[in-house]
Amino acid sequence: MNISKRAQQITQSEIRAMTILCNKVNGINMAQGLCDLKVPDVVQTGAKEAIEMGKNVYTSALGEPYLRAAIGETLTRNYGRKIEAGNVLVSNGATGALYCLATTLFDEGDEIILFEPYYGYHVSTLESLGCKIKYLKTLPPNYEIDFDKLEDAISEKTRAILICNPSNPSGKVFSKEEMSRLAEIVGKNDIYLISDEIYEHFVYDGLAFTSALSLQAIKERVIAISGFSKIFSVTGWRIGYAICDESIISAASEVNDLVYVCPASPLQYGVNQGIKYLPKQYYTDVARDHQQKRDTFISTLNEVGLAADYVKGAYYVLADLSSLPGDDDKEKVLYLLKKTSIASVPARAFFSDPNGINLARFCFSKKEEELEEACRRLRKNL
Ligand code: GLN
Repeated sequence: MNISKRAQQITQSEIRAMTILCNKVNGINMAQGLCDLKVPDVVQTGAKEAIEMGKNVYTSALGEPYLRAAIGETLTRNYGRKIEAGNVLVSNGATGALYCLATTLFDEGDEIILFEPYYGYHVSTLESLGCKIKYLKTLPPNYEIDFDKLEDAISEKTRAILICNPSNPSGKVFSKEEMSRLAEIVGKNDIYLISDEIYEHFVYDGLAFTSALSLQAIKERVIAISGFSKIFSVTGWRIGYAICDESIISAASEVNDLVYVCPASPLQYGVNQGIKYLPKQYYTDVARDHQQKRDTFISTLNEVGLAADYVKGAYYVLADLSSLPGDDDKEKVLYLLKKTSIASVPARAFFSDPNGINLARFCFSKKEEELEEACRRLRKNL
């Protein structure tokens, strides 16, 4: 078969590969960030009603005006910067939103700086467009940024710094000071700051979350990406968004139109009902519940000899699988799957050079019974 060179470069993600292997053994999927928790009633009912009301045809390529306005109002309230409907592009998940914005802004050969460990889809999206990635290593437990190295990495070709905050997979939550330093560097070099904030509500231990949207001094240079997959447990609905300067919105919506035509109409209505009717308490409860899940799961990992730090945000944890048999990260992850039927993602999905890194990522956003079962299996089998 004649597969194009471009398609040959796009390979199956480790997250997807492990999900397939997990399904084969009917295991517990802690590999993919599925988030199969309860969907809030208003969100579910909203989508069903929308279908009955006839919201079944194309919407604007920018997303429904009412949803764009509601997202703008929410972010204005949360992050203290005026976000208008005109700054919002609703797309097919955060992944779709990033694809549209990256296509809109970057040319082949443009350089983007990313911190490692990274989220593989960021890399694949940018590489599929011919961008060159420059990786900057960050290390546990705090994954601090070496700002001197960051400034050194910036060249004539650098167009953006991309962060994931809170980070998938490390759980790092960028401090206010770090965000200010990033803003200074972005402003000085006239580049973009792309901030994937899909886990914005998943922050633990009373830490404060600093959105890139709060960086007033570089507001034209910030692209924030987020969505409803995680917070409303609707990862399969694919409703996400990008926030950016109004001057880029129209071009980005044309990419959105080309690839997706529009986000799903009734599902936009469903998430809008969530924004409208869920109290503030809903969001704090989700964070509190996940902090408990984190504590339960990470204490078990440590108990069975898979050392892991308590993450500050998002809902993943990188655990050290060195004590398990196998020559590399993938073999160890496969051993774990065989022994416990628990799927995780090997380090190679998050590091440019995974040689000798025996880490695996586990998603702890699981129903209580399932999380307990996973802990039981780890204790029994390791
Ligand atoms: N964001 C989720 C993860 O990191 C899902 C990724 C995916 O399946 N594309 O697991």
